[in-house]
Amino acid sequence: MLDIDTPQPITREELQPLLERLAADAPRCFGEGKVASYIPALAEVEPDQFGIAVCHADGSVQYAGDAATRFSIQSVSKAHALVLAMQQLPPDELWARVGREPSGQAFNSIVQLEVENGVPRNPFINAGALMVTDMLVSKLWMPQNTLRDQIRRLSNTPEVDFDERVARSEMDHKAHNAALGYLMQAYGNIHSDVEMVLDTYFHSCALSMNCIELAKSFAFLANQGVNPFDGQPVLTPVQTRQVNALLLTCGLYDAAGDFAWRVGLPGKSGVGGGIVAILPRRMSICVWSPRLDSYGNSIAGRHALEGLVSGLNVTPLG
Ligand code: GLN
Repeated sequence: MLDIDTPQPITREELQPLLERLAADAPRCFGEGKVASYIPALAEVEPDQFGIAVCHADGSVQYAGDAATRFSIQSVSKAHALVLAMQQLPPDELWARVGREPSGQAFNSIVQLEVENGVPRNPFINAGALMVTDMLVSKLWMPQNTLRDQIRRLSNTPEVDFDERVARSEMDHKAHNAALGYLMQAYGNIHSDVEMVLDTYFHSCALSMNCIELAKSFAFLANQGVNPFDGQPVLTPVQTRQVNALLLTCGLYDAAGDFAWRVGLPGKSGVGGGIVAILPRRMSICVWSPRLDSYGNSIAGRHALEGLVSGLNVTPLG
């Protein structure tokens, strides 16, 4: 028998000073990267901020730094949108129109989309999220409100809402996403009005939440699909495993491999500087810091997740 020395996971009492140390160390990363500026409303955010929050599978939270400051969740919402689509549509219908493979391309890339006949590689790149949004627009009466209400329930925070300024700013600078939407329509894969799909997608991205709320809204993915705040199943355990697998392989776009290498957890990033990560059956984590690397992922956020994982002494891939 191999005698492997299994490290003991740290306790909640030990976690708190770890979170505080990560928040205290974060300014070391503030020299690097830039705030997203292609959406003008995001360019106004003060760049040197950092927050971290952990939501345990039972719903209890621990946090440090600017964890109570709200920010634009941006592409983190693509995970929420996929979950809603998985609840609403039969799997065959959903996965006939969007793939489950990493793209290896930038989050807003259009090149693959033409080569692959308007079927996006996965639901977490922009084209894939627009496709998922199209399905929600076809299926639901008020899709953006249904999504917001689901996130309110998941985060146990009835105040979660859209930042209309950010949504408008995205609509005013929609050309790139509109190109993706109209190209998919040309292939017959978008069924609703493209402008309505764009408006709904931009509203999802423009949800304003803080690290605590965002970590809570993903606790069900660390709890076998059950929302710990009301005991209601959100996804089945199998669907939960599937979403986590997709987050691991596709959640950080063309940096997903490097993120898996460094952090080793399913994750989803957004250009608002938020990254959510899941430690299955244990906790959901949200880090936030607005300065981004060239892939559109938070530099201090990723760095803190690396530190958290090594400090936790639990690695699902180790
Ligand atoms: N709203 C952004 C966009 O469509 C979301 C991108 C992101 O967070 N990666 O470009």
